[in-house]
Amino acid sequence: MKYVSTRDKNARGVSSAEAIKTGLAPDGGLFMPESIPSLTEDDFRSLAVLDYPGRAAFILSLFLDDYGIGRLDGYARESYREERFPGGAAPLRKVSDGLFSLELWHGPTCAFKDMALQIMPRLLSGALTMTGERRTAHILVATSGDTGKAALEGYRDVPGVKITVFYPRDGVSRMQKMQMTTQEGGNVNVTAVEGNFDDAQTGVKRIFSDGAMRERADRDGTFFSSANSINWGRLAPQIVYYVSAYCDLMNGGAIKYGDTVNYVVPTGNFGNIFAAFIAKKMGLPVGRLICASNSNRVLTDFIETGVYDRNREFFKTISPSMDILISSNLERLIFSVAGAETTASLMDELGRTGRYKVPADVLAAVRETFSGYSADENETRDEIGKLFREDGYLVDPHTAVGFRCAEKYFADTGDGTVTVVASTASPYKFPADVCAALGDPVGSDDPAEALNALSAATGTDIPAPLARVLTLPVRFTGSVSPDKMEDAIFG
Ligand SMILES: *Cc1c(COP(=O)(O)O)cnc(C)c1O
Repeated sequence: MKYVSTRDKNARGVSSAEAIKTGLAPDGGLFMPESIPSLTEDDFRSLAVLDYPGRAAFILSLFLDDYGIGRLDGYARESYREERFPGGAAPLRKVSDGLFSLELWHGPTCAFKDMALQIMPRLLSGALTMTGERRTAHILVATSGDTGKAALEGYRDVPGVKITVFYPRDGVSRMQKMQMTTQEGGNVNVTAVEGNFDDAQTGVKRIFSDGAMRERADRDGTFFSSANSINWGRLAPQIVYYVSAYCDLMNGGAIKYGDTVNYVVPTGNFGNIFAAFIAKKMGLPVGRLICASNSNRVLTDFIETGVYDRNREFFKTISPSMDILISSNLERLIFSVAGAETTASLMDELGRTGRYKVPADVLAAVRETFSGYSADENETRDEIGKLFREDGYLVDPHTAVGFRCAEKYFADTGDGTVTVVASTASPYKFPADVCAALGDPVGSDDPAEALNALSAATGTDIPAPLARVLTLPVRFTGSVSPDKMEDAIFG
């Protein structure tokens, strides 16, 4: 299986190991498999009797054929083992009749990013071996909170790799900051940037594109690599849980093979929901894919009108991981429905003007599969309270956006198809906001108090990894100004 750039109309391909090692295509496009493998009914029946690592190894082997299924099975067993994902990697919970929650946050950092960032470091390590790379990969991450911690936890002590994470000093929650500054591992570095997320992000991009920096890294026997969701190595593992949820619905008797299922995905960068789209193209019987946004409804508007326009007011919400106006992975969808030439010209327009409009036939193809809905802050808080009161189900603000959008879709369409909402974070990652939404505000901004208050208010348990963070010593206290981030890298 070869990988081609979304912007290359000559479709020159590279191996999956090469695509994972380099992350981004040389022309600035994103890597896509040149064809999408398909799953037969027999495949579904075989997958249904496997555990999560077995399902992951099989599906990944269709895309990453140069790795071989034996190696992938080893990676998956290691990544998703019980100790890292107590109770299983992607359990499906029934919330009410025909409505299920796919809980993707039982990993070491309590957000869905673990599903990919536990296995991606192994995929990278394997890629370094397969491509004969002798240098150490230095992963650079700018984070607004969840990605940084999940990447640190995934890459810690992985051979041949080191990682530096930059977070905005005053732009992450106290819980998120504690999770990162107490990070364990011998190959990790965490530095605060005296600025906001954009300053950190701009600094990382500057370092990536600076020839002198690259040469300096090379002299040190290293090269820079990225861990964000434009890398195919992060996207591919996310396809697995949509197929896995379908198998679990079959096993539980909620559906029989061939019945369609809707998936609702709380969306920021369009990575998670794009993985669902790939699963559909592989033959997963999907009804609608419902793209759920918070007040930053750039994608809702796109699906409604065909105009993608990031020149708009930016809202800081209680679902911060979806506070995104640049949904990078949408480029992959455009490529899938319109091809490389159209993608290259639309992305050029986006770079110049911050806006593009897709042709009518492209919009029609998008709308054939996707519905877009958004939930504002009041609706999100209201949904947290409602789900807990009516269904005894506790969700975080991102997941609440998903459930509210599902309800709006049902109300609009009367569709009674079995529906799965992707639950993307533990409510304990946002304890103060969840308590407030339940009508039980926490009096202090101390993370320990907020965790205890949520547990007391709901009779649920604090996830062990978050309780543990409170007991760890702080290791990383350094900060740099945005123009001095280089110093944190070469120290
Ligand atoms: C990253 C994140 C999302 C958005 O996922 P995308 O792949 O960027 O669309 C949603 N919820 C949570 C909790 C996240 O951390």
